[in-house]
Amino acid sequence: MPESKRPLKRFSQNFLTNPLVQKKIVDALQITTNDTVIEIGPGKGALTTHVLQANPAAFQVIEIDRRWIEHLKNSFGAALHIIEQDVLTVNFPTLLTSFSQPVKALGNLPYHITSPILFKLIDNYQLFHSAVLMTQKEVARRITAQPRSKEYGILAVLCQTYAQTDYLFEVKPGNFFPAPSVDSAVFRLTFYPRVDGLQNEALFRTLVRGVFNTRRKMLRNSLSRIYDKSIVYSLESVSLDRRPEELTVQEFKTLSNELNQRLGQVHA
Ligand code: SAM
Repeated sequence: MPESKRPLKRFSQNFLTNPLVQKKIVDALQITTNDTVIEIGPGKGALTTHVLQANPAAFQVIEIDRRWIEHLKNSFGAALHIIEQDVLTVNFPTLLTSFSQPVKALGNLPYHITSPILFKLIDNYQLFHSAVLMTQKEVARRITAQPRSKEYGILAVLCQTYAQTDYLFEVKPGNFFPAPSVDSAVFRLTFYPRVDGLQNEALFRTLVRGVFNTRRKMLRNSLSRIYDKSIVYSLESVSLDRRPEELTVQEFKTLSNELNQRLGQVHA
């Protein structure tokens, strides 16, 4: 590989070299010719080629590295619409308004910014139909984790509030160049059209983050660090003797709604 195309660590460039794995990832998105697809971080175009073969109605890719943008232009020409930008600065509502239907997202994600990308997708969940993403295996397990497991935490509760999460398959380091030091895994988020039964999304997020920051503590203690004790002690929808990792997503919603009402009563 010429020096000018050396993979850059700061962009988490581990390129997927196995065509069978590339195709398996793209197949998991179940692209039809009516779909709109966006790919995050196409790099050399390992997944891009397979998306183009599926012939979606519209397809855009978001890439930050100028060297690979040139390469993509040379390889795919006008068939590919490239957004030459940091994905974290892309305004999804503006970008995606012209599409009449929810969009399918795809990416072998730059691992160093996995969480901010996930939160960005979640913040805009109503614009997306689904996402098939590859991350470090450990992160994929945390996203799809169930209550009472050690992986269950903020990522699981927030992702599972906005989407059905499915852990699909693992990919070993030998399928990349350069080989990453950790295993990777592919998962799918199928976004709900709306989140039912949640009165205050901002409060819900603060609550989930707050209690998992002290995940060994009982809810009564961790909530008392964030909210007034008298309000916390008045909560009765969920037993506060429990630890956050024991609560289902539905129980977090119920607790958040009760807290929202109590806070509303205090401030009314
Ligand atoms: N899709 C290719 C593949 O599977 O071989 C490349 C995946 S590589 C793990 C991550 C890609 O994301 C690289 O092409 C990298 O340049 C790009 N990238 C890194 N940070 C980015 C950012 N902030 N915005 C957009 N693309 C980014």
